[in-house]
Amino acid sequence: MTRKLTAKEVVLKSGLKCRCPECGKGKLFQGFLTLAPRCEVCGLDYSFADPADGPAFFVMMIMAFPATAFGIWIELAFEPALWVHFVTTLPFLLLSCIPPIRPFKGVLVASQYVNKAEEVRFDTSREVDPKDEPRSVAITTN
Ligand SMILES: [Zn+2]
Repeated sequence: MTRKLTAKEVVLKSGLKCRCPECGKGKLFQGFLTLAPRCEVCGLDYSFADPADGPAFFVMMIMAFPATAFGIWIELAFEPALWVHFVTTLPFLLLSCIPPIRPFKGVLVASQYVNKAEEVRFDTSREVDPKDEPRSVAITTN
């Protein structure tokens, strides 16, 4: 069954799965965080995508609270030696921050694609098309 997905669905489904925002099938990454040059299924050029530090920023801002709370709780509850934090708090911090970066980057890239985000240009000769809305993409769903 093929139906048009809304912009929000495209961003969440293809972004979280780290798939191409156009077809939903091709891989978005060729390494852990390195974007592939283009989609191997539909050929979409990923050169538009530049989330920069966005994924790391969002993951740090979200995960800093539970990781810090966990470390403070261990310190206040058990008053352990410093090495205990190296085997509990540090792994918790790394496991709560590193794995979510990839899907966050996928969501930001899909969001850039859907919203046609690009660098600001000061081209005043072009008028804005009022029909220029976010893309809707046909992705096959099961
Ligand atoms: Zn594709």
